[in-house]
Amino acid sequence: MARLSGVLVNHPTLDTIQISPTLHMHDRWFCRFLLHSCDPNLAIDTSTMEVRAAREIEPGDYLSIDYAATEDVLGRQFACGCGSPRCRGWMTGRREQPNEEGRAWLANKATARTSND
Ligand SMILES: [Zn+2]
Repeated sequence: MARLSGVLVNHPTLDTIQISPTLHMHDRWFCRFLLHSCDPNLAIDTSTMEVRAAREIEPGDYLSIDYAATEDVLGRQFACGCGSPRCRGWMTGRREQPNEEGRAWLANKATARTSND
């Protein structure tokens, strides 16, 4: 579908893709348009920086990737609202635990689920 390109930096931002444990590529033209989804329609091969369709993409669909697939640590953790049945709820990088806000959010979610059963 596309190939990302940009400037290498040593810290994550909202416009970077992690390409090694210490390097992130800042692509201000494309990365900011890739939303997060726990069931994304795109995948990024960080060895070639190619962006490929992970499943069928319909006209009007938002383009999405799974931020946890590339990022060890997110610039900012957040409650996911992707709506997928596979939604993990609270988004972290693949090598970090939920922060204090995330633990509270997950505890509230578990309490709501228990009281609805
Ligand atoms: Zn989600």
